[in-house]
Amino acid sequence: MAKMLIGGELVDAQGGKTIEVRNPANGEVVGQIPRGTPADVDAAVDAARKAFPGWAATPGSKRAKLMHQAAMKMHEVVDEVAELLAKEQGKPLAHAKIEAQRVAENLEYFAGLADKIRGDYIPLDDPSKFGITMRRPVGVVAAITPWNFPLTLFANKLCPALATGCTIVLKPASTTPLATQRAIEAINSAGFPAGVINTVHGSGGEIGDALVSHGRINKIAFTGQTATGKRIMQLAAKNVTRVTLELGGSDAMIVADDADIRRATAAAAIGRFFNAGQACLAVKRIFLFEKIAEEFMTKFTERAQKEWKIGEQFAADTKMGPLHTEQQRTEVESQVADAVKRGAKVLAGGKRPDGPEYAKGWFYPATVLTDVPEDSRMATEEVFGPAVPLFIVKDLDEAIAKSNSSIYGLGSSIFTRDMAKARKAAEQLDAGYTWVNDIQVAYDQLPFGGAKQSGFGKEHGIEAVESYTEKKSVVLGSA
Ligand code: NDP
Repeated sequence: MAKMLIGGELVDAQGGKTIEVRNPANGEVVGQIPRGTPADVDAAVDAARKAFPGWAATPGSKRAKLMHQAAMKMHEVVDEVAELLAKEQGKPLAHAKIEAQRVAENLEYFAGLADKIRGDYIPLDDPSKFGITMRRPVGVVAAITPWNFPLTLFANKLCPALATGCTIVLKPASTTPLATQRAIEAINSAGFPAGVINTVHGSGGEIGDALVSHGRINKIAFTGQTATGKRIMQLAAKNVTRVTLELGGSDAMIVADDADIRRATAAAAIGRFFNAGQACLAVKRIFLFEKIAEEFMTKFTERAQKEWKIGEQFAADTKMGPLHTEQQRTEVESQVADAVKRGAKVLAGGKRPDGPEYAKGWFYPATVLTDVPEDSRMATEEVFGPAVPLFIVKDLDEAIAKSNSSIYGLGSSIFTRDMAKARKAAEQLDAGYTWVNDIQVAYDQLPFGGAKQSGFGKEHGIEAVESYTEKKSVVLGSA
């Protein structure tokens, strides 16, 4: 059974209750975690609070050294962590390995920034004085993560927190806690002082609420659904706690009449079907210029049917595992059914796969639809699974207007050989990212975060360091 890391100790929940974690491919129990209580949250926040002054005062170079050592520890457990992740989340093992390795890379990136955090010298009107700004760590961070990329998303919070001198209490999704807990134990074994890194496990509505409304935390770093983000904002208001919200998305991909169709269809397939479509930055709506629409549809449908083999996560030829939960599959099915009822045509997929190997898991195939009404659920909601609507547009203005009609604004992309079109899309798409002839990959070096109801605040890059520090002004007068 997994434990929680609180104040340097591996502990069970107060009260001793547990939660089972299941494999989405067959429903088997793969492990158990403590069902934490608000008292456990108190203990974790207290430990993080106590550790904060010492960690904040630790020189950046020493924090960096520990983070480099933690990256080595993480490399040592990549296979073990990846296996846990594949089992509990459902993604193919090869993809789980990449995700586990990314944690070590993220530690290295932010370790490189830990001793480069600094302020400015600012001349003032009064020549006998001058101003400086300094960056101070915000304090104790409450980090809450979802189940789709559990490792990537905890690392996005833990690494800038450690680099800047913050301490952290992390609550992973209750359906994917095992890989995160194992990775955290490996990272912590590099020698971080007790209380710098803490974990609590349990249900979001119970201990998640207790954590975000806790009076002794200083920042909430949340990734998850927009609806949960709204609730967290309300709870954070109680103590005016700062929040970073990385929420849902409905990313548009525009394919112009001059695009390389082979590249565009390959990118669209990876963009939509990777991780069984359960990615915040997945391609969720595709807008095709009339001239290339038919060619794109034919080639993309062929890819969806032939290249995205569904199966159990440990089979070597599996490209797409099951959806993460029964509820997740039901949701995607009902979004597809709504579109079909309103006249949409299914070009690929659209129904559960037959066969005994699929009977016990939440499998759903790569699904492509056309003639999807613009007010249907697929067009207006986030589709968090491997189903995508294709829309035909007459020009770039229409494509941009329709892309921007969503309440979300996370990522976006355009495939074109025309720099003028690329530039216009980059300038006018309302989203935190626009890729030109590329998709979905969020780089460590570039700030990442959404617009509109996709949230606010940035992860990755120098901007992440800024969001874990507070800029303070100091005036130096003569003695
Ligand atoms: P949820 O919002 O359901 O859950 C996310 C986390 O919040 C879980 O740890 C959950 O705990 C916890 N939680 C739930 N309710 C509360 C609460 N009241 N107070 C505090 N914490 C709570 O999201 P999903 O796990 O379903 O994740 C999928 C969503 O995440 C999609 O919308 C996706 O687009 C978005 N996402 C956004 C990303 C981005 O960077 N913008 C990246 C990846 C995903 P528990 O598991 O116990 O319910």
